[in-house]
Amino acid sequence: MSEAHGETVTEVITSESLSERIGALADAVNKDYQGRTPILVSVLKGTLPFIADLGRRLTIPVEFDFLQLTRFGEGGRIGIALDTGDSLTHRDVILVEDIVDTGLSLQTLHQILAERHVSSLSTVTLLDKVPRRLVDVPLEYRGFEVGDEYLVGYGLDWQGKFRNLPGIWAILDRPAFERDLTGQFAYMYG
Ligand code: 5GP
Repeated sequence: MSEAHGETVTEVITSESLSERIGALADAVNKDYQGRTPILVSVLKGTLPFIADLGRRLTIPVEFDFLQLTRFGEGGRIGIALDTGDSLTHRDVILVEDIVDTGLSLQTLHQILAERHVSSLSTVTLLDKVPRRLVDVPLEYRGFEVGDEYLVGYGLDWQGKFRNLPGIWAILDRPAFERDLTGQFAYMYG
């Protein structure tokens, strides 16, 4: 029996809305960092499209760097899998996140960066999953508040896939999604 795709997944943020909101985030960063050269440190891999689009809307001089985190088990210790190539000492650092969920990753990043004698630190996240927050973390720039559904697209993955969808989709029914991956894939990329 074929599944009703629209009841299994739904597009929650279109590429047009993403583009508009990212423009507004870039405007705010351009204004706040006037006269400075911040380094944008993005957390791989989910921030890939976001940093490319945000970066191209910035009109102040900026540099880019990347880091990647590892998680040891569900809710376990978080460490650095790949560190930045450049030193962050005495730099204005803007952390770029795809989504802040429990806040634990961002809290760990703040702890790590606190030891690196940065000049200033702020965070820009595309998505803020407010209902799932466990720890309080400062978020200076936020794209969208989202609910607690699992999201894919525009950098966010499901088992490594769907990062290249231009919009963001919510998986409403996970068992149905997993039962008919080929059908969902065709629907979402159709
Ligand atoms: P936190 O440490 O805030 O709980 O988790 C943040 C990380 O969890 C994100 O960078 C992302 O990798 C992952 N994550 C949280 N919610 C989602 C979601 O809805 N979809 C996907 N694909 N990843 C998520």
